[in-house]
Amino acid sequence: MTSAKTILVLGGGIGGSTIVRLLRGRLPSAHRVILVERDAQYVFPPSLLWLMVGHRRAQQITRPFAPMKKAGVEIVHGEIERIDPQNRSVQVAGKNIAADYMVVALGAELAPATIPGLTEAGHNFYTLSGAQSLDRARAELHDGNLVVLVAGVPFKCPAAPYEAAMLLEADVRKRGLQGRVTVSLYTPEPGPMPVAGPQVSAMVRQLVESRGVNVNTEQAVIKVDAAGRRIHFKSGMEVSFDLLAYVPPHCAPAVVRAAGLIGESGWVPVNRQTLETKFPGVYAIGDVTGIPLVTGRPLPKAGVFAHGQAEVVANNLAHAIMGDGKPRVFDGYGSCFIEIGDHRAGFGSGNFYADPAPQIHLRQPGLLLHLGKVAYEKYWLHRWF
Ligand SMILES: Cc1cc2nc3c(=O)[nH]c(=O)nc-3n(C[C@H](O)[C@H](O)[C@H](O)COP(=O)(O)OP(=O)(O)OC[C@H]3O[C@@H](n4cnc5c(N)ncnc54)[C@H](O)[C@@H]3O)c2cc1C
Repeated sequence: MTSAKTILVLGGGIGGSTIVRLLRGRLPSAHRVILVERDAQYVFPPSLLWLMVGHRRAQQITRPFAPMKKAGVEIVHGEIERIDPQNRSVQVAGKNIAADYMVVALGAELAPATIPGLTEAGHNFYTLSGAQSLDRARAELHDGNLVVLVAGVPFKCPAAPYEAAMLLEADVRKRGLQGRVTVSLYTPEPGPMPVAGPQVSAMVRQLVESRGVNVNTEQAVIKVDAAGRRIHFKSGMEVSFDLLAYVPPHCAPAVVRAAGLIGESGWVPVNRQTLETKFPGVYAIGDVTGIPLVTGRPLPKAGVFAHGQAEVVANNLAHAIMGDGKPRVFDGYGSCFIEIGDHRAGFGSGNFYADPAPQIHLRQPGLLLHLGKVAYEKYWLHRWF
């Protein structure tokens, strides 16, 4: 009989929710699995793209954390104020919680305020409230320039701004406003999804442009004039807009930065196969990590990786505690649907750890892939909540 262990999981997003459920399924009840999460409701982020064009309501893509309690997960609701990785403990509402193992799954912090004027000028569709306000605003737009702006790199889900632009363009067409409303996208990236390689990037660009979206790359925003509705770029270019939808700059959460967990990249360095940090018994998974690929670009921030890493860490902790099964490694494989509007989606998949470059394959968009994305949304929310 192994001595009772405590596993502390920080953050109940895609990575954290997956890992607590898997651990609870593998470990007898004598072992404690504690999840610390500040939000009362879980939001499934991929579906924000549908919500912002009126295809979903908030109730369809949010879930309470309560069912996890029934499954034996101890839930601590509150803001993590301090992390002590040396002692594998955290402080929540002034109370200390310590553990034998700790998994940091706190995601990326959204930092729109770092670009002057951005918050006042536009809609942050990376949040539930921002996607809801964008939904209301796009329904009222009958002419003018609709701009999708990537305000910083890296950002989670490399495909999301391109999907957003295509969904908004499809909405404009559906409402009979083609020619009256133009959709443009501005990004500091050299092209769409550069991590996937030049071929995939060119294919995605072609997809987006074939929908009539005007794609502008290597344009880094420096400020936005909310009153004058103008975006100022580092290149000197200025662009006017009538409706602005943006992806905010991202950074590691302040509490993670303060804990000494961050490396030179600004994110948490980990062993790319085991996800262990430099602190023994402390793991980090998902968006909070910075994992360099052989090309020098980082592994994208995406739910599919947070999920895959959670599976590996859950397996290896269960193996370490119970001695059953075999240790596994995270292999860098990932996939994602790319929604293009009109009930069609493409699908990119491959090995991001491949040497000398990620090997990514893109399947042409179709109805079946869109239905696959819908089915996956239903499955995910049902499986983990
Ligand atoms: C619009 C959009 C579309 C997307 N589409 C896709 C897609 O199609 N495919 C895909 O793979 N990925 C997609 N993603 C990306 C995906 O959602 C993220 O990569 C994924 O959620 C990362 O999981 P995570 O567990 O690392 O972090 P998160 O899911 O962000 O979870 C972090 C959790 O930590 C909590 N937290 C943070 N700080 C604290 C604190 N101090 N105290 C307590 N709790 C805290 C947060 O409340 C949150 O619940 C999309 C994202 C967006 C925004």
